[in-house]
Amino acid sequence: MSEVRTRFAPSPTGNLHVGGAHTALFAWLFARHEGGKFVLRIEDTDEVRSTEESLQAIYDGLKWIGIDWDEGPDVGGPFEPYVQSERLELYDQQFDRLMDSGRAYRCFCTPEELQQQREIMQARGIPPRYEGPCRNYDEKQIQTLLAEGKPYCVRFRVHESGTTVVDDLIRGEVSFDNSLLGDFVIRKTSGYPTYHMAVVVDDHLMDITHVIRAEEHLANTPSHVQLMEALDFERPQFAHLPLILGPDRTKLSKRHGSVNLLDYRDQGFLPEAMRNFLAIIGWSPGAEQEILGLEELIQKFTLDNVSKSPGIFDLEKATWLNGEYLKTADADYLTDLLVPMLQEEGLIEGDLSPERREWLERVVDLMKERTRLLNDFVVWGRYYFTEDFPYDNRARKKWLRREDVPERLDMLAERIEKMENWDLASIEQVIRGLADDIDVGAGKIIHPCRAAVTGQTIGPSLFHLMELLPKESVVARLRRAAELGRAGEMEPLPDVEE
Ligand code: GLU
Repeated sequence: MSEVRTRFAPSPTGNLHVGGAHTALFAWLFARHEGGKFVLRIEDTDEVRSTEESLQAIYDGLKWIGIDWDEGPDVGGPFEPYVQSERLELYDQQFDRLMDSGRAYRCFCTPEELQQQREIMQARGIPPRYEGPCRNYDEKQIQTLLAEGKPYCVRFRVHESGTTVVDDLIRGEVSFDNSLLGDFVIRKTSGYPTYHMAVVVDDHLMDITHVIRAEEHLANTPSHVQLMEALDFERPQFAHLPLILGPDRTKLSKRHGSVNLLDYRDQGFLPEAMRNFLAIIGWSPGAEQEILGLEELIQKFTLDNVSKSPGIFDLEKATWLNGEYLKTADADYLTDLLVPMLQEEGLIEGDLSPERREWLERVVDLMKERTRLLNDFVVWGRYYFTEDFPYDNRARKKWLRREDVPERLDMLAERIEKMENWDLASIEQVIRGLADDIDVGAGKIIHPCRAAVTGQTIGPSLFHLMELLPKESVVARLRRAAELGRAGEMEPLPDVEE
């Protein structure tokens, strides 16, 4: 068999949708699994809606989740160009062939006339399709209309009866009734090809062996197949991926969370977690396994295990997966991702010195066990970077507003102030020592101390996190919390989520 060649063919008319990223990922994984090639082709036949920014968003989105392409507009390749608006001549050659063979014809109907025809058909209770007069014009009529300068598009003449069978690698054989297809437009009045024409010509000219795309295109496939046959093109294999729904099983939309892939980067998802998450929507490696690294995905990905039924875009699961990836990620890698986020929050300024960088990596290592999104470091970990952090309501209610707490915090501050060594063992010793001396359980010191130093009741090991803060800052925080407590300012805040 010839080398497998798949493609992702986005239209640059908006952000890279998570559904688009899903399609791209499946086509890419299949090509990589088969040792084949993956092509990026830009389908900008919508002259009005295509934009440069959107093209950039597609590049950025694909690169973010680690998808690379062997051929494409920016990297070139043997079938250049990879942008449809630069391939108009190639489509023209095929239009000519279809016109010569009589499979295509000019359609002079105006939008108003088409609308009228549709209404008539609807009134007759038949599904609308083109049945207008232009199908049957003779040469003389055509020449007259051309001489009048009437604008026209070009339609493909589909078979009027019989069935077209599409053999789909995921769905098996799917039959379509030809009488329902209708002659479709292949060339717009502007001279541009429509999606149907351009996709068929390009998949052929670019030697695409497997057309892997979203289910919504299955209904277009019989039309494409007829076009391929009329042009004597070999049929590629088709694989139509399952729909993606929200957890409530309705079409995925903004109601379920963002549909723009890159928003997830900005919300603190790791690219490998997002890639893993998208890969297991509508596909599974067979076993119960859900966490799959890149190599494993490539090794295990086959179309046999792609499901026919819709996949669910479940953000809860994505977040859980992200947490799992964070736990095992390298502090060095996470720190690289976090630095710009912390800078943007104003929590670090300028470039980090090597010592500060090393310190930040220790913070990251300590925190990563308990975070689910990168943003959690910035929100929950605020107290590592600034004295300006909030006391949450749990910390207020459980500890900081209690009457016996200020005194204990002051006592602890006093002992800490006198410490000579600021290390884990010494910190633990001082805290436990105070508990022993005043005869309370260690928790009675540890918990209020955590609440005072971090503003929270949960977090990583207290001794470890204290060690990462300057001693003076810990002392100041203990005293400040004591003072605020005494002044009655540690009451829970209304309207604050816990
Ligand atoms: N440009 C089409 C889209 O974005 C491509 C569909 C296909 O893969 O054939 O939906």
